[in-house]
Amino acid sequence: MNAPVRVLLIGSAGRMGQAITEVAKRDPNIDIVAQCDRDDSIETGMAACQVAIDFSMPDAIDEICRLALQHGRPLVIGTTGHSPVQKQSIEVAAKSVPIVFASNFSIGVNALFWLTRKTAEMLGDEFDLKIVETHHRMKKDAPSGTAKTLAEILGKSRNIDAEIPIESIREGEVVGEHSVIFSGPGEQLDLVHHARSRETFATGALSAARWVVGRKPGLYNMEDVLGL
Ligand code: NAD
Repeated sequence: MNAPVRVLLIGSAGRMGQAITEVAKRDPNIDIVAQCDRDDSIETGMAACQVAIDFSMPDAIDEICRLALQHGRPLVIGTTGHSPVQKQSIEVAAKSVPIVFASNFSIGVNALFWLTRKTAEMLGDEFDLKIVETHHRMKKDAPSGTAKTLAEILGKSRNIDAEIPIESIREGEVVGEHSVIFSGPGEQLDLVHHARSRETFATGALSAARWVVGRKPGLYNMEDVLGL
């Protein structure tokens, strides 16, 4: 059996950090050798790991990219809500180290991305497009990173620059729901995904961590990891 992959977990005290810790305990291929949260040093853990997983907040990204480059470590980035400048830091770092950057690590949502692309191509311009996303009231960014990815997919499939309307709802403890609504003449098609637990994102992020170690530098997403 191969040795487990040594992981640094950034944002370890958060909802996703805790879900990843729980899933990793049951995975013999993963060893979380270091953890950090706000105000902890990232450097020692970056030096000790083979790959760093980030589920924290967007303002952490400059330091994470700087240390990943300094130590030559791959990254798995699950944090959402980065500004265009912060996204640029990720793109620059990906020229030197492999990075999986995904707005959603669940296999079901990545199937939704694929289905959205195919459906938009199939249905054509007579169908109006809308995205609705619902998350728990503590979520900081709106619209969700997943809703933005869905909007990008729709924009590219239709070859349009116009903004796709996104409705963001924040209520209760909803883990994550996304609907893509195609309203056409006399019919409506809805593609809907419900995340029931954070374990689905945690499992996907750990698969991405195993996958990215040893890859060539570049910016990858979860569809690359899943081979979709
Ligand atoms: P959370 O608020 O529960 O946890 C974030 C944690 O990061 C907190 O413990 C916080 O103290 C810590 N943190 C903040 N700034 C930090 C810094 N500079 N360095 C280190 N740690 C820092 O949030 P969450 O629900 O766990 O979500 C975390 C992020 O992951 C959010 O951006 C969320 O949108 C995203 N998310 C992505 C996916 C996905 O599949 N890609 C799934 C769920 C959540």
